[in-house]
Amino acid sequence: VILDELIMMTKGMLPMYDKKCVISLRIEKLKVLDYRLPYTDLRKVEVMNDYNSRMIGYHGEKSLEFYLEPLIQSADFHVFHDIRLKLGDYYFQIDYLILCNKFGLILEVKNRSKDWCFGPFNQASQLNNGKKEKTQNPVSQAKLQARKLIRWLKENHCEEFPIHYLFVNANEKSKIIFEEGNDQKKNICNSEGLYDKIEQIDNFYKEELLTKKDLWKIKNLLLANHTPDDIDILEYFNLSLKNLLPGVQCPKCNCIPMKYHYGVWTCCHCKEKSKTAHIKAIEEYFLLIKPSITNSELRYFLQINSIKIANTILTSLKLPFSGKFKDRVYYKSLTL
Ligand SMILES: [Zn+2]
Repeated sequence: VILDELIMMTKGMLPMYDKKCVISLRIEKLKVLDYRLPYTDLRKVEVMNDYNSRMIGYHGEKSLEFYLEPLIQSADFHVFHDIRLKLGDYYFQIDYLILCNKFGLILEVKNRSKDWCFGPFNQASQLNNGKKEKTQNPVSQAKLQARKLIRWLKENHCEEFPIHYLFVNANEKSKIIFEEGNDQKKNICNSEGLYDKIEQIDNFYKEELLTKKDLWKIKNLLLANHTPDDIDILEYFNLSLKNLLPGVQCPKCNCIPMKYHYGVWTCCHCKEKSKTAHIKAIEEYFLLIKPSITNSELRYFLQINSIKIANTILTSLKLPFSGKFKDRVYYKSLTL
């Protein structure tokens, strides 16, 4: 307990994110899938569009770091980016969760260039050349996440404290328009107004509801139960290994495949040479296909014929393995 408290005090003093904004596993998968799909595959457009729209969303979330900086510098606040938790049979995901000893705050971040319109009955739409197109209401989404988080915290025997929610418009180009009969104004802001909103909520509460220990417990629970969205991306797009371009990608011109000769990979297109270009290909196999590989699977994916060479490559990576000789299965390790 004494050690725990010591770590708690030290950590509390260091300005830091409890969970930083990084590119998600799903975006990583989409990026690799995009260049591994040939142009002849009709699903490539779908993959590219999905990748692009998720990257726009990511940039919006990333841009909030600038506005959250004062909180990061303060020992009183904990900031978590992209928390995904299981409630019942389903998962719910939160873009940003901010915690302090008085309250929690959920941020639902959107980075869309079209203007937002919030009307009566909490209907949200986006304006496309003056025409209203109905869309999911991000405030209602954030509210639902707040409800789910409250339930999740209760099920995990945490102290009760208020959870607020906000929709943050991270796109400078898009305006927010309110129509009569909409009462969601207090739960909406632009990026620039985020800090003021947080200050308002903070000033509203005079009492501290959570002890440092409560907060420490909640923080650890959140991090331990966070489950990344590890979707089978091939299945999602109804693809299989045979739809992908096998081979090692050239680190210079991105051409696939490179040819292997006496320990060196050479690009067929730009003649770039590399001794290690296969490592990225194997990482991509683990990312898209499965977290293990056999000698014959490696030969197919790297486009080499020799069992011996495949064996040399696999052994050199020092991957954990099981089985003997030709039945040996190599597993993805933390370093690869
Ligand atoms: Zn090349």
